[in-house]
Amino acid sequence: MSAVRTVLGDLPADRLGVCDAHDHLFLGSPQLAGRELNDAAAARAELAAFGAAGGAAVVQWTPYGMGRRAADLPALSRAAGVHVVCATGLHQAAHYTPDTLDALRGRLPDLFVSELTDGIGTSGVRAGLIKVAGGFHGLDAHARWTMTAAAEAHRATGAPVAVHLEHGTAALDVLDLLCGAGGVPPHRVILGHLNRSPDPVVHRQAAAVGCYLAFDGPSRAHHATDWRMPEAMAALVDAGYGDRLLLGGDTVVAGARSVDGGPGMPYLLRRLRPRLAAEFGTEAVERILTANPAEAFAVEWAAEG
Ligand SMILES: [Zn+2]
Repeated sequence: MSAVRTVLGDLPADRLGVCDAHDHLFLGSPQLAGRELNDAAAARAELAAFGAAGGAAVVQWTPYGMGRRAADLPALSRAAGVHVVCATGLHQAAHYTPDTLDALRGRLPDLFVSELTDGIGTSGVRAGLIKVAGGFHGLDAHARWTMTAAAEAHRATGAPVAVHLEHGTAALDVLDLLCGAGGVPPHRVILGHLNRSPDPVVHRQAAAVGCYLAFDGPSRAHHATDWRMPEAMAALVDAGYGDRLLLGGDTVVAGARSVDGGPGMPYLLRRLRPRLAAEFGTEAVERILTANPAEAFAVEWAAEG
């Protein structure tokens, strides 16, 4: 049966509900020193705020080695009454020490598969997606290594591959690698951060391949492109790609949480949902928040061994 793999178990896709398709309850990196998401009480409050705003599910794209706190997610999900999906995968090299990466040489696909099927560490919590990252207008050796491993893990499990596009760029390079050499069906690829590089031609080219396009995350760093997001999404809806779009909050630092004064997860439903409805109608927005994520994250997982 096709199911979304949540931290509380496999969920029939039609029960996922209104979904923040790209966000973070926990995230740490040397790049974010002092601003990490590493506060369980704040995570719990943020998830509850999303639930109170009408949200039903959050997909956390935090990959391996970046403070996912997988063992804490089931209790948070239960307390808030919000489904949570967590990730395996690997981010850009800058987020890790060289020793951490060296220890993963030769075993990355096995790590991803094990986290998707057996669980993350000793938590018993299974990942529901594989997160990897591209570079700025191209893919370096690290990106090619992690994407090749993600493709292999996809072929073994069926898991969707979610991609951080650096400043929204290199979408077509990523698709060439994952769907070309990697053999990942386009509908199993989710490209993140398209809003940060609002080139309508590239957006249409990526959508035409058949992948999902995630528009995610108002942030101070990318504020210059925030206002172009409604028109970019409307252009894709008009071109017939309304079934390829996803929305996320992509909260990456503590100050971006709604419970700490930022837009956070509730912003998606509080302001973005009506803003987008004004642009291209309620029906298309509801599809983007509910049916599309259910299709993007539902997998025919292999039966238990
Ligand atoms: Zn993210």
